[in-house]
This record gives sequence, C-alpha cells and structure tokens, in this order.
Amino acid sequence: MAEALLTIEHLTKRFYDNLVLDDLSLTVRKGEVIVVIGPSGCGKSTLLRCINALEPIQGGTIKLQDEVIDPKSKSLPELRQKIGMVFQSYELFPHLSVLNNIVLAPMKVQKRKKEDITEEALELLERVGLREKADSFPRELSGGQKQRAAIVRALCMHPEILLFDEVTAALDPEMVREVLEVMLRLAQQGRTMIIVTHEMQFARAVADRIIFLDKGKIIEDSTPQDFFEEPKTQRGKQFLNTFTYQAVKSKEGELD
Ligand code: ADP
Ligand code: MG
Repeated sequence: MAEALLTIEHLTKRFYDNLVLDDLSLTVRKGEVIVVIGPSGCGKSTLLRCINALEPIQGGTIKLQDEVIDPKSKSLPELRQKIGMVFQSYELFPHLSVLNNIVLAPMKVQKRKKEDITEEALELLERVGLREKADSFPRELSGGQKQRAAIVRALCMHPEILLFDEVTAALDPEMVREVLEVMLRLAQQGRTMIIVTHEMQFARAVADRIIFLDKGKIIEDSTPQDFFEEPKTQRGKQFLNTFTYQAVKSKEGELD
C-alpha cells in the first residue's frame, strides 16, 4: 500500500456552537483520488479549508506526511505550497493575463526562474487546450476556460495534493465536461486528489474511494462501486435517490 500523504485524526471544527466537523478521521494515500460527497451544509468545504489551514480547528490533528498543518505554524507558507486548491469561483487576478496569473506564485513564493515556469505553464496550458489563451485576460475566457486555467495555476506550484471544491458547480452544462476531463486525466497520472463534487457519474469514474459526509461525520467510506450500487446507510441511499430523481426531472424538462 502507498504511503499516507494526508492524515486527519479526530478533527473537530466548530463555528461558534455549530459543530461542523465531528471527530473526523481520514487517511489519504499517495496517488489516491478521494471524492467527498454529501448534502449541502454537511461540512465538505470546511473540511477542505481546514486541510489548507484556512480555518482554525478546535480539536484533532491534520498532517501532511509528518508535518502538522496548523494555521499558527511558522512553516505554514511552505506547507501550503504543497497543497493546491481550486474553488468554485476562479479567483484569477483580473488585471493579469492567464500566463501571468500562473507564473506569479511560483516566481514570488517559490523564487523559481520565470523562463522555467513559463515553459512549464505553456506546456500545461497546451495540455488543457488553452495554449492560445496564454496572453488573454480572465474576462476574455469562458467559465470552463477560467477553471482550466485555475487548475494549471495550481499544478504549476507542484503540489503534493490537490483539493477541488465543486469546481464545476458554477459552469454552464456544456463546460462542465471539459473541466471534468482535465481532472480525470490528472487522476490517471497518479495525482493525489480530494474532490468535492455533485457530478455523480464523474465521481464514480474518478474515485478510488467515496467518502460520504453527513452532519460533519464520515458515514460511508467505500469503493465507488459499493457506494453507488449498495450504499450502506439509509442516508446514503436517500442522497443517491435525490440524484436519480433530479436526473429524471431534468430529462423531463428537456422534453417540455
Ligand atoms: P458544504 O460545503 O458541505 O455545503 P460547508 O462546509 O460550507 O458545507 O458548511 C458547513 C456548515 O458550516 C454550515 O452549517 C455552514 O453554515 C457553516 N459555516 C461554513 N462557513 C462558515 C463561516 N465562515 N462562519 C460560520 N459558519 C460557517
Ligand atoms: Mg461547499
């Protein structure tokens, strides 16, 4: 079995008296693709934000390899570079070209040579079909293109693990696929990833493990096949049923 890359033990996260993550433990091994699903408000985004030390935690530990991720730690800037995060909103700088958005952090934070990063950035942009957009500004890109550029920006930092928080949720349906395909390719390359998504077909195709989160607890941790064919919990079943229902509903909508 591959080595543990991320180890979360007994994580507790509260916002005031709202217990959002409740004694949550999870180990992610190198090369593993974990898809986290669960109802709105169950703590998915908060979990990713805690992993990236964007939120203080009230209990437990989060470790990347042997280093503790702690918002107060002095080594946090270096640790954070090992964790790539892509959000639902693209967060590209509007006043910088795509290429400059990508090379900024590797240059400023990692002090790498501009020529080296530019070469790498252009190669990665090529791979996601955006080579010709390198000098465009974010406002000149579609949502799907912006999201692919944001993924390249994360990759150029050479992270050990990539976190994706509903990166296709704000996209028009025809753009969802192009972004999911990029993520699927990253998974095939052996990248370690934690993906929060509501795209169930994609989840099934991409995941090594499905984590089903409900009220801040992992209530299922299964292979995609087991989870989608035979969820162990009533909550898991109910959740999947709402998706089938929605899929049928949207098909009906198309026929109107
Ligand atoms: P999900 O991503 O699964 O929809 P979130 O992690 O965003 O859920 O939210 C989990 C819970 O934490 C919700 O009850 C939400 O209202 C609460 N929450 C999230 N962020 C904050 C915040 N910054 N301040 C207070 N409460 C928050
Ligand atoms: Mg969320």
